[in-house]
Amino acid sequence: MLEMYKEWFDARHEYAKEWKEKSGGKVMGYFCTYAPEEIMYAAGILPVRILGSHEPQDVTEPHIFAMFCPFCRDCLAQGLKGRYDYLDGIMISQSCLHIRQAFTSWKMHIPTQYSYYLPMPMKVQSPRALPYLRAELENFKKSLEEWTGNKITDDDLRNGIELMNENRRLMHQVYEMRKKDNPPITGLDSMYMVVSSQMTHKQEHSRITRDVINELGKKENGRKTGERLMIIGSEDDDSKFIQMCESVGATFVIDDHCTGSRYFWNEVEPNGDPLTAIAKRYIERPPCPSKDWEERRRIPHILQLAADWKVKGAVLIQQKFCDPHELDTPAIRKALEGKGIKTLFLELDVTVPIGQFRTRVEALLEMLQEEDLF
Ligand code: SF4
Repeated sequence: MLEMYKEWFDARHEYAKEWKEKSGGKVMGYFCTYAPEEIMYAAGILPVRILGSHEPQDVTEPHIFAMFCPFCRDCLAQGLKGRYDYLDGIMISQSCLHIRQAFTSWKMHIPTQYSYYLPMPMKVQSPRALPYLRAELENFKKSLEEWTGNKITDDDLRNGIELMNENRRLMHQVYEMRKKDNPPITGLDSMYMVVSSQMTHKQEHSRITRDVINELGKKENGRKTGERLMIIGSEDDDSKFIQMCESVGATFVIDDHCTGSRYFWNEVEPNGDPLTAIAKRYIERPPCPSKDWEERRRIPHILQLAADWKVKGAVLIQQKFCDPHELDTPAIRKALEGKGIKTLFLELDVTVPIGQFRTRVEALLEMLQEEDLF
């Protein structure tokens, strides 16, 4: 069953096209995990995350400065190359400047029937953030109603909430299993699980995840865990990189990524008005650094994850030129090192120099192995 996640990951476009053909529904590409998928599901739309392909490209140069992060350029490249030509719409929930530029360029240069910019508050800690976001979600809902011609009722929203919550709950259960001394699932397969949930219908993904949980509960893991690592950063769906790190004597047991735990960590508490409940969930979710101020809440959350999952070392990855994560990295390293957790910082591009990075990961693991001897 676990293999299904990788199949979906690899065949993401085929999946969405087939879904569209079978259901006759619309597919919406979204750019940031602050996108309220609950409302899209309530409207009968399949939300799919727009991600890059980790291949060198030369099509974004006229549209985005080369000093914008490689991730946002890679995402736009997919659109310019026509790989997402089945999308009926695109949307973004306000995020960092880089990915906003990818959205704007997409809107200007790639013909798409519908586009929506959702002004998600950056200062989520403000007391005004909740009513503000609730009002913006209402506007988004109205816009979807006009586009699809279908009314979205409170019951539809509640169904969307339950669909998302169930999927979050199941992925949480899988993450809980990674606390074991010998986790039954690798960091690579966990990444495939989370990223594929961003590309497939949640109902189908949850069905498979229930089976995976059963399978993992019974499975004897013949693999050596090695050093317990955490991976921290923006998004990382670079399978070659993760595979390399786990092939030299380590396992990623937990992460703080938007292609990982940050995506699904907290649920919507389905009380009262559904739009307020959805807004509250996105305001309170583990923050992206672009929204983590004035109080820095991300660091205590990371330290807690590291403690609960018995992490010994952490790999901090940053997409080149990513300002939000670059600002957070020194403080996170200091906090982790203060708890005796060794850290390694790596800067990622569209493609990564695997050989060079292997040497650096091995150096981290050697330090951790030396500690084990004393
Ligand atoms: S948060 Fe960083 S990696 Fe993510 S889109 Fe923005 S600049 Fe790029």
